[in-house]
Amino acid sequence: MRIVVALGGNALGNTPEAQKEKAAITASYLVPLIEQGHELIITHGNGPQVGLINLAFTEGHMANERVATMPFVECGAMSQGYIGFHLQNALVNALRNKQINKHVACVITQVEVSPEDPAFNNPTKPIGSFYTKEEAMNLPFPVKEDAGRGYRRVIASPKPQNIVELETIQKMVSNGDIVITCGGGGIPVIKKQKQYQGIDAVIDKDFASSLLADLLDADLFLILTAVPHACLDFNTPSEKALFNVEVKQMKQYLAEGHFKEGSMKPKVEACIAFVEKKCGRMAMITSIEEAKNALTKEVGTKIYH
Ligand code: ADP
Ligand code: MG
Repeated sequence: MRIVVALGGNALGNTPEAQKEKAAITASYLVPLIEQGHELIITHGNGPQVGLINLAFTEGHMANERVATMPFVECGAMSQGYIGFHLQNALVNALRNKQINKHVACVITQVEVSPEDPAFNNPTKPIGSFYTKEEAMNLPFPVKEDAGRGYRRVIASPKPQNIVELETIQKMVSNGDIVITCGGGGIPVIKKQKQYQGIDAVIDKDFASSLLADLLDADLFLILTAVPHACLDFNTPSEKALFNVEVKQMKQYLAEGHFKEGSMKPKVEACIAFVEKKCGRMAMITSIEEAKNALTKEVGTKIYH
């Protein structure tokens, strides 16, 4: 089976040391899927990491002008390399330990978005450090008040339309290689006079991974997050974990507002978009710990046609 695996924040830590440790644990949960004979294409989030890189350059430049300012899109590209390295290193080592002869490689991935995407007129995604009201008034980018904690830069979160490196990824997968791609939702690019150009934005990793799974015609889109199931009435006394759900039913739960904006909602939407496109496809939301059981046991929330 061809599986696109999307890793969430809890698969990686917030510091380089924690990230190395977590990547090794994550790899140990993914290797059994490789042993079971499946093709893996791995994607991951980058929220804390891109925030850290951006903060380092922003504060660094304020303290010392010899530190260049770093546009947000380049910070995203750096985070792909930094997270990709740890995941690649952890997977290579885990495979070597088991004497499995497979190659693992990261693809720095550009994901095309539309310059006309309405998200550019209404940036919503808070990133980086907090500023006081006075500081916020003199910043060269849009800011919004974030839940009483201060002002934060907000950035557009446009929808992914196309994966520029898709053919390379396809060739690597066909060759039997394990590919790490679309990190942090991909580096957002727009087409300008037939050329691709980076743009400051954040693409939701769940949406980018869903698009990737569709374009690679994966059999399973597996979202690994902090919880073993998507739930109805989440965090209430009537909370109910979902197991096997038809896509039509899931759309209804979505419309009823069971899944929280910015966390579970984009995952459910991403799963629906992937499954709806073609009969026989399945999407699953579960925890990293359950990854190895995804296809052998009754685990997670399965969404099917
Ligand atoms: P990731 O980093 O994996 O993308 P997120 O924190 O964005 O993870 O989303 C996963 C979180 O969504 C869970 O840890 C849980 O707290 C929250 N969540 C919101 N609504 C639901 C729901 N209906 N069912 C289960 N979890 C939910
Ligand atoms: Mg998330």
